[in-house]
Amino acid sequence: MARFFKRRHKPGPSKNEVKVQRAQDAARRARSAGRLQDRFPEVEHLRVLLELLSPQGSPLGREVREYGPEDVVDFAVPCPGRCGSTGSFDLATKIGAVITALETSSESSGVCQEPLYAGSPDPCGTKLVCRVEASYAPRPVE
Ligand SMILES: [Zn+2]
Repeated sequence: MARFFKRRHKPGPSKNEVKVQRAQDAARRARSAGRLQDRFPEVEHLRVLLELLSPQGSPLGREVREYGPEDVVDFAVPCPGRCGSTGSFDLATKIGAVITALETSSESSGVCQEPLYAGSPDPCGTKLVCRVEASYAPRPVE
């Protein structure tokens, strides 16, 4: 018959220590509101693959952004095209929609509508193709 040894538990923090810890946690959360776990606590890992193409279809750049829960997220992609970076792609809405729907993979694309120069009737036309991959933490049992 197996013998079990009772482990001696370490003494827990006092009530006051818990209070101080909670206040510190809240302050930390407020300061770093841009972390993945603050915005999307259900996401364990987020990967964003970006590919930028000129209006003619030639590659302008590729980027992979990976985020863990502790990482500060930045969902803005400055346009590398002819608009001179005045335009940018904001992926926050798209990524928010993917996560809200608990999708694990989603692709989308957009075109920079920024005028080529001030007053120009022609848009920049740089194309962004973006793939969002997310994995989710198992829901805590309630
Ligand atoms: Zn542009």
